[in-house]
Amino acid sequence: AAGENDLPPEIWEKVKNHPCYSEEAHHHYARMHVAVAPACNIQCNYCNRKYDCANESRPGVVSERLTPEQAAKKVLAVASTIPQMTVLGIAGPGDPLANPEKTFKTFDLIAKTAPDIKLCLSTNGLTLPDHVDTIARYNVDHVTITVNMVDAEVGAKIYPWIFYKHKRYTGKEAAQILTDRQMQGLEMLTERGILSKINSVMIPGINDEHLKEVNKAVKGRGAFLHNIMPLISAAEHGTVFGLTGQRGPTAQELKRLQDSCEGEMNMMRHCRQCRADAVGLLGEDRSAEFTTEKIMEMD
Ligand code: SF4
Ligand code: SF4
Repeated sequence: AAGENDLPPEIWEKVKNHPCYSEEAHHHYARMHVAVAPACNIQCNYCNRKYDCANESRPGVVSERLTPEQAAKKVLAVASTIPQMTVLGIAGPGDPLANPEKTFKTFDLIAKTAPDIKLCLSTNGLTLPDHVDTIARYNVDHVTITVNMVDAEVGAKIYPWIFYKHKRYTGKEAAQILTDRQMQGLEMLTERGILSKINSVMIPGINDEHLKEVNKAVKGRGAFLHNIMPLISAAEHGTVFGLTGQRGPTAQELKRLQDSCEGEMNMMRHCRQCRADAVGLLGEDRSAEFTTEKIMEMD
């Protein structure tokens, strides 16, 4: 039988214990993020680098940055305190694949010390094709890609620049490279049987209508979930589109768009846009119990 959200059984089998993919599991299983990836290789107009990446996390939050060694230690400490901890994600505070040494070093340490923990990561996708084989090697079974457009015209309004192969690109050229790389990365993950979730940030007047096209494009390339998130707009978070403030969608607008994409693919509606150092059950944040200071004392 199909699982929750009517996922195909083989996918349900993989995600049923994953708090972020299963409505049911998120009451029983915990996840944690470790913030080991400070750098980023693109600029999103809605991002203020002082805060966490919106690939996966709630913007406007500053997570505690860790070295891979500190992160591994923290994972073990959390796993011994919260036995339901099944998933470790790397989601920032920048782009995990713009910091591949740190991200994969962390996975390496955890694969050795706590092999049962499932690994996942989120990325803007720019360098994803270069890392798919490494991702497969570490048994990462869930990757989240933030895809806000599949059309460079739209993309040029969202991304002022990217930094790719030692060169800065701007405008439509930048957006075209980004979308090509994202779609290529998604196809490569699908070929290798690695589950891909797509996050999209809904930006009224910029990509709201266009996200229906994004939905078709990512579904056609094998993504198993599409999570449309609202732009969280607040001046103090540095949300700037040009010189004027950009509003986020209303709850109604968000629901209308999600409804119009539903049927196209399973939509994820319970993502909480957790911080890059979140710990615990979804909707619960125990990160304060596991600060670096406390972890380093736990010897
Ligand atoms: Fe900011 Fe994340 Fe966009 Fe990079 S990918 S600019 S860290 S929101
Ligand atoms: Fe799960 Fe979303 Fe939180 Fe990531 S940000 S751990 S996908 S609920």
